[in-house]
Amino acid sequence: MKVLHNITAGKPRQLLKPVLFSLLGNLVAVFPFALVIEAVRLIFEPYITPGAVLQIERLWWLCAGLAGTALLIFLSEIPAYRAAYRGAYNVAAEGRAGLAEHLRKLPLGVLYRRDPGDLANMMMGDYTLVETGISHLLPQLAGAFVLPVFALAGMLLLDWRMALSMFAALPVALLLILLTSRLQRRLGSSHMRAKLNAANRLQEYLNGIRVMKAYNLTGERFARLDTAFRRLMKESIRLEGIFGPVVLTAVGLLRAGLPLLVYAGVQLLLGGSLGVLQFAVFLIVGTRIYDPLTSALTNYAEFRYNEQAGERIVKLLQEPVMTGDTGPLPSDSTVTFENVSFGYGETKVLNNLSFVLPQGALTAIVGPSGSGKSTVLRLISRFYDPDEGAVYLGGRKLSGIDPEHLLKAVSVVFQDVYLFQDTIANNIAFGRPGATREDIIRAATKARCHDFISKLPQGYETPVGEGGSTLSGGEKQRLSIARAILKDAPIVLLDEATASLDPQNEAEIQKAVNSLILGRTVIVIAHRLKTIRGADNIIVLEQGVMVQQGRHEELLAADGLYARLWRLQQDTAGFRISS
Ligand code: ATP
Repeated sequence: MKVLHNITAGKPRQLLKPVLFSLLGNLVAVFPFALVIEAVRLIFEPYITPGAVLQIERLWWLCAGLAGTALLIFLSEIPAYRAAYRGAYNVAAEGRAGLAEHLRKLPLGVLYRRDPGDLANMMMGDYTLVETGISHLLPQLAGAFVLPVFALAGMLLLDWRMALSMFAALPVALLLILLTSRLQRRLGSSHMRAKLNAANRLQEYLNGIRVMKAYNLTGERFARLDTAFRRLMKESIRLEGIFGPVVLTAVGLLRAGLPLLVYAGVQLLLGGSLGVLQFAVFLIVGTRIYDPLTSALTNYAEFRYNEQAGERIVKLLQEPVMTGDTGPLPSDSTVTFENVSFGYGETKVLNNLSFVLPQGALTAIVGPSGSGKSTVLRLISRFYDPDEGAVYLGGRKLSGIDPEHLLKAVSVVFQDVYLFQDTIANNIAFGRPGATREDIIRAATKARCHDFISKLPQGYETPVGEGGSTLSGGEKQRLSIARAILKDAPIVLLDEATASLDPQNEAEIQKAVNSLILGRTVIVIAHRLKTIRGADNIIVLEQGVMVQQGRHEELLAADGLYARLWRLQQDTAGFRISS
């Protein structure tokens, strides 16, 4: 059951139809076989048995029977074919969509532990292997045993000694495959690891092509990619080179059944305990019986390999998702941190944080790089849950609220804006699916992007590239603010990114932000302290610990870390690049 569960990526019921139809198809294929044996008996009986005559009429009936079974086989193959492909494509299409949804619901930590190339490969490559398992490998494996089982039963009735010699090598061949299945699994997983590594290196190479050109790293990075491809080649050769001979030996053993059969037949014939006709029947069966078994043995290796791909998917699907209540969200949007500690791994990034972010107030979080500011925002968005303590929204623990439901109350404007490969209008409407064109234009106007969008030849219908690469940094920032304005959530999390912008862009963004935050609970990560002088409260973090909090003037007067950061920024305000 575990194997069936894995090969179907957790949907073993989808195998039912393809396997049933394959069994049925192979069952129908037994009939012509039986009819040919009967035809041989009818044709040769007059030459062997004294007094026997050729029953020509029965032979014609057999001919008609053969034509009928050919039609039956054809008719049974069509639904079998359909069932196999429908089952396979259903599992792959639904599975891919389900896995994508599952990934969205997982804590981000689970995703960050894996390479994006690994996940993309699982979505496309592993599901393709699962598809082949359902459409081809398993139905063929199951069907391959129908003819041999019937043949064995029939032949046992005819002559048990001949039947046993016909199948004598089968248990040895099966044993060889089963005994080496652990080796095959090891070779298979190391081949799969090499394949993933090559996919990841390729993704890294393509993503980093700009940096590589700029720093002339082409040789070094290409060497990594080249090494990954060579490792994949070695692993592929190892997999085929070691396991191939095992399969070939098993197939050879199986085929050794035919000479054994002939030898036993001749001995029994000479001894007078086997009739000529019976011998002829065994020879006919013997020449055909090993074909399905041989293809089953060769398919088995591929089947076990594909099973590992399905197992990877099943394991990821078993990772627990973040769950919670989807009932009405609290009307009070006060956010409270109570003794919160958190780390991405072993090391703590936030240490026993307790503070209140009151409803309708603007709270700024400041601190040196790496002090944990972004992590605070990630906990408020429930991208992660705290290791210790709790975060509350209007008195309700965030860990009890469904993360996607919670995000209806939160707008997040990140530093690195991601725009989807779609039109500008759709990228803004992403904030509120179903928004009208008027809503979109209103939000864009408030976010100070209506003017630059209107100047584009296709206006709001202008397509933007993946990641928004066709727009400037400032334009992308304003589009993401428009998205947040349209979303109209009571809480706004803002990771300020004005540092890299020119003064005009900065002023535009400041105006856009002001429209966004009006009347909402705002938590802003401030990199430039002058922008948050008017904040209701400023929380100062240092290495994940809150070292100060208060208003700008109070903090300056206290002459602590905030005052030091402030003075530092005043000094660097006149910073100029010079030769
Ligand atoms: P900056 O101002 O430079 O953006 P920050 O104050 O926002 O920094 P965080 O991004 O919260 O700091 O990071 C706090 C610490 O956690 C840093 O040491 C960082 O290296 C680490 N960190 C952040 N994200 C991850 C992650 N996904 N996995 C592991 N460590 C992380």
